[in-house]
Amino acid sequence: MIILTVNADHHALCVSKRGPWQLGGPSRLQRGAHLKAPVVELPNGYRIKSLVIPLCYLICFLLPLICFCLGDCVADSFPSRAQVVAVLDGDTVLLDSGQKLRYLGIDAPEVAHEGTPAACFGNEAKAANTLWVKGKEIRMEYEGLRHDSHGRLMAYVFLKDGRCVNRELVRSGLAAVYGKPENFRLWYDFLKCQIEALNDGRGMWGACRVKEEPFYQANTTSHVFHRPGCSFIPHRVSNRWKCIRTRLECLKLGYSPCRRCMP
Ligand SMILES: [Zn+2]
Repeated sequence: MIILTVNADHHALCVSKRGPWQLGGPSRLQRGAHLKAPVVELPNGYRIKSLVIPLCYLICFLLPLICFCLGDCVADSFPSRAQVVAVLDGDTVLLDSGQKLRYLGIDAPEVAHEGTPAACFGNEAKAANTLWVKGKEIRMEYEGLRHDSHGRLMAYVFLKDGRCVNRELVRSGLAAVYGKPENFRLWYDFLKCQIEALNDGRGMWGACRVKEEPFYQANTTSHVFHRPGCSFIPHRVSNRWKCIRTRLECLKLGYSPCRRCMP
């Protein structure tokens, strides 16, 4: 059976059980053309066949290739294993990939930098970190934000024997818990280690003397505590602020010392 119809160019278009072909006009099809991919002639002269095949190639080959390459790039940006080539301080190292890595959930005292002398126990924290990780392969685990505002990776760091270096630093009194409990799954574990270190006077908790204040102001949102005169404390404190009597109590509750007033 043959159906005869007329297309937009007023060329007769025949359709049979064996496929379409055109009578007359600029692109006459051969009778055997129905064995290849179906062709649809558009009014402006384009053939759909010429678009369908490149699109199929794109979907079948190029898209998976692009996704694979992007996946590799993301994996390379956030490696799960690396070699430590240098230790910058108690909580920051340089990886063989050239990336800097900041230990997640802790804050070690600073080493001397830009004319500022080292904080109490800054050099000891760096020395311990060097002993644990320098020249060794480490495994990283990420949680939440994978890098900080300086572009450094942020991760938990594990040694081959399974120890978490972040935890070991806190347990030894060489770093303090840093951050909000809701952001870190190991926060409560780190705080438990910090309380033990405080009770035993380990590391900086036993060696570094600080001027005590009659009370401290702790921000329950940022989880940071301040000396009473710190410029970060607003004139009118909201109910997000909590007055805590001693520094030890602030530390045992897991509040991090403010980096400006350094309580
Ligand atoms: Zn402060």
